[in-house]
Formats: sequence, C-alpha cells, structure tokens
Amino acid sequence: MAKKMLKDLNVNEKTVLVRVDFNVPMKDGAITDDNRIRQALPTLEYLIEQDAKIVCFSHLGRVKSEEDKASKSLKPVAEKLAEYLKKDVNFIPETRGEKLEKAIKTLKKGEVLMFENTRFEDIDGKKESKNDADLGAYWASLGDVFVNDAFGTAHRAHASNVGIAKNISESAAGFLLEKEINFIGEAVNNPNRPFIAILGGVKVSDKIGVIKNLLAKADMILIGGGMSYTFLKSQGVEVGTSVVEADKLDLADDLLKNAYGKIVLPLDFKLTKEFSNDAEIRVGDANDIRTDEMGLDVGPKTLEKYQKLLKNARTVVWNGPVGVFEFSNFSQGTIGICQTLANLEEATTIIGGGDSASAAINFGFEDAFSHISTGGGASLEYLEGKELPGVACLDDLS
Ligand code: AMP
Repeated sequence: MAKKMLKDLNVNEKTVLVRVDFNVPMKDGAITDDNRIRQALPTLEYLIEQDAKIVCFSHLGRVKSEEDKASKSLKPVAEKLAEYLKKDVNFIPETRGEKLEKAIKTLKKGEVLMFENTRFEDIDGKKESKNDADLGAYWASLGDVFVNDAFGTAHRAHASNVGIAKNISESAAGFLLEKEINFIGEAVNNPNRPFIAILGGVKVSDKIGVIKNLLAKADMILIGGGMSYTFLKSQGVEVGTSVVEADKLDLADDLLKNAYGKIVLPLDFKLTKEFSNDAEIRVGDANDIRTDEMGLDVGPKTLEKYQKLLKNARTVVWNGPVGVFEFSNFSQGTIGICQTLANLEEATTIIGGGDSASAAINFGFEDAFSHISTGGGASLEYLEGKELPGVACLDDLS
C-alpha cells in the first residue's frame, strides 16, 4: 500500500514533529561526517517554506548510563543544522517536561526547535528503543502531525517513529525517506536490467537474507571483501589465514548451488602475511593462496572482470567494501568499484549505506551515484524484502 508523503500533508502553521536521522559520527565532540544532516535539509527547508512550526529530534549512538550523556548530546548537531539552514535552531537539552513543552507551544511559524537525543530515554528501561507506549504517546502529544524522515532507524520499531505514528492524527514520509524507499524499492522490485548487485564486507551471515532475495531478483551478484573466502573455502579452495566464517561453509555452499551461476567470486587477491597496511603484498590468483597468507583486497584481474560485467548494467546495488578499504594499500578494489560505477552513465547506481557509503563519500564519489543510502541496517533489511516498521507505521494514502 502506498504511503502518505510529505506533500500530501497540510503543514501550514501546524506543529510538525520530524524524526530525522542525525546519528552522525563524532570525535571529541566534533562531527566527522555531516552527510545525514545535509540529507535532511530538503524536508526541513520545505517545512520552513510552508510556515510549519518544526520540532525535530533524533537518536545519537547508544546511551546506557548518565555518563554517556555528555558525549551523546545533540547540541553540536543542532549548531551544525543552524549553519546549514542559515537560521536559529532552538536546542532544548531535554527529551520531555515543562521546558520542552513551553518551548514548543511558543514556536512561531517557520521556526525550528530540536530536542535532545531520544536515546536519553533508554537509560531507565530502554523506553525509546523498546517503543514504550507512554513515551510514544507523550511525544505524539507535542505536535499536530508526524513526518518520519529517518531511514537509518526505519527497520526498528522505536517510540520516536512507530510510537508517535500510532498516537497522532496524521503521519507521512519525509523527502529523504521517500527517496530511500523509491530508489531501493524500485531497484529490488522493478529494476531496469541487467540488474547487478555487488556484495562485500566481512560476514556472509549478515547478508544471507539479502543474497537469497537478490538471487531471485538480480541477474548477477558479484562478491568481494572478506565474505569471498567463506565462499571459496566452501568449495574446497585453500584460503590461508583469510577471514572465514567456519560455521557458514555449508550455507555458502548451498547458496552457490542454488545460484545457477549468478554468484561471481573474485579471481585474484592482494595477499599478505599480516593484517597491516605496511605488510608486504603479493598479488595471487584465488587458487594460489598460500597457507600463511590472507587476502585483504581483490586483485586487478577481478576488478577488470567486474568492470566488464558491470559495463552494460542498468541497475546496480552495492553493499559492503570489497577490501579492507581503511588501509590505503588495500583500498584500490573499493576505489575501483567506485570509479567503475561512477562511469556508468545509463545505470541507476545505489549504495546501500554503511561502510561502502562512507568509503564512497571519503574517496570523493559522493555525487557520482544515483543514490547513497543513509541507512546501513535499514537498506540491508529492505534489500532482503522485509517490511520496515518505520515505514509501515505511516498513514496509507487513501
Ligand atoms: P561489513 O560490516 O560486513 O560490511 O564489513 C565491513 C568491513 O569489512 C570493513 O571494515 C572492511 O575492512 C572489512 N573487510 C573487507 N574485506 C576484508 C578482508 N578481505 N579481510 C578482512 N576484512 C575485510
């Protein structure tokens, strides 16, 4: 069932509760990547233009104790948001209570208020993360309508999404959530073909559901990263000291048997004797890994083959780096995939959040893809074909 979108709501002069995803990486109190803040701007700018009274909120990391609060405050995020919006953001360092209620009541049209990290409510009984009924109802009572724009938590039923939606008269998806659902949903359910998925990262176990779902929908799945070795070992190939999920060998074998040739494994690797950027490198074929070697990146033959396979693709979904991209000497595979996808002019190219998204952004490819998802876990669950509670809870378009 199609969901209500932001433009289906009348928000003029209404108090609009906006769940954004400002769970940004921070170091020593400074934001190290503000992509999620920038991605939320279209929704917030539209609400400002429409003369709404805007109350935005988000989680930031995990908050388990009072001591966590100092490093998990959203204050620096509110300051960054004010810079981008070029207007004041009234930051209220509370998640409930009189001060917050009063500030919301006195909001004028076009003004923006942001309240403190929703997970401050997790210290005493995980109220936010366990979708405490009273908390959802309380937050809902603070506004007239609800806009969910947080894709990163859409795969979880929390008080700040599902709890609010359940208790408010109208709810809809914000522009970012709409974009995420459209891009990933279209890719999986109605792709232009050939549709090729690239899956990397360490764990096959994290991506079993995705592989199974994509085997039914994609034309090809190119494998890279640490999970390559579990697949290779499941076929009796020597993988040395490379990462392997020993308890997933049968599963990897089953996936390959049921793939009818759709799963493509790397041909060669950059091999080393230790897990270090400075270790000596040997490039070797997949069937030539020595017992004391580990693969930390795909090799040039693999990149060339993947480039050829991707050349005619019309839809590409990528999740998970194809090597240890954090080490400069083992980042070439992941950069090579970025470059290849950046050159596909006619394809819709989607990066499914997480490490591959930060790699693409850090390596300078932010504008080279059709869509870089803001949600790692959420995009994986969506790619698996699962319903996302943070979307399902929103009003249906009648
Ligand atoms: P995931 O969270 O499963 O997407 O995995 C991402 C991580 O996989 C990154 O931190 C990469 O460094 C790591 N990774 C990719 N390739 C390898 C490899 N060959 N060996 C060990 N780790 C890898």
